[in-house]
Amino acid sequence: MATKLRQLYEGKAKKVFECEDPTMCIVSYKDDATAFNGLKKGTIRGKGVINNRLTNYLMQKLEKEAGIPTHFVQELSDTDTLVRKVDIVPLEVIVRNVVAGSLSKRVGKEEGTSLLCPVLEFSYKDDELGDPMVNDYHIRAMGWCSDETLEKIKEYALRINDYLVSYFKTLGIDLIDFKLEFGITADGTLVLADEISPDTCRFWDSTTHEKLDKDRFRRDLGDAEGAYREVLRRVFGDNN
Ligand code: UDP
Repeated sequence: MATKLRQLYEGKAKKVFECEDPTMCIVSYKDDATAFNGLKKGTIRGKGVINNRLTNYLMQKLEKEAGIPTHFVQELSDTDTLVRKVDIVPLEVIVRNVVAGSLSKRVGKEEGTSLLCPVLEFSYKDDELGDPMVNDYHIRAMGWCSDETLEKIKEYALRINDYLVSYFKTLGIDLIDFKLEFGITADGTLVLADEISPDTCRFWDSTTHEKLDKDRFRRDLGDAEGAYREVLRRVFGDNN
């Protein structure tokens, strides 16, 4: 069993630890929540456990059923997971199916407006700069990843979107948009990393359009805990 030896990094929602195996890391999910690039801080009780379990379940499904390589290795506890160590590609990969959030502001369309096809966006991962949106040319010119890696990221992101949209539809949830991060392992394999959770996805109830994600915290809509628990309940059933 892997053990946490030394903290390598503490992010906004997770800590990362070194373990005995130098090709692996242990990720530990926290209840801390931040929004607006860290300006708003709080806690969503039970979030760490929920995001850990949801991410691991979805990554395993994506591996088996959609052929997406991921960093997931083994769930160690309610909050901790063994993952493959990667160099993170410094991009936030955003996939959108419906207008919401920053896109709504950028194009002046109401949240909930449907899109004719999915939209893929990239942001340069840099908190000090506020994760600015960039395009393929910036990525190539700055050397943030190779052309081959970028093409694979696009293919994976759209495949992940197709798979997750259909899956969440069966649970009565519309997947509005989400953010992915990818990493490269020591042997050069591109894998899906980070998390897939109500922190990083917009989930709307298909019937009531109720928000079941971090927008409840960002926008002070109340009962963020309940919303996260509801997503967990739809995925794993009533005994959770
Ligand atoms: N997102 C994220 N981390 C970020 C920025 C965005 O997980 O640092 C997710 C967010 O939860 C949403 C999607 O990416 O599901 C699109 O976010 P958007 O660009 O609309 O930004 P926001 O309105 O969240 O600032």
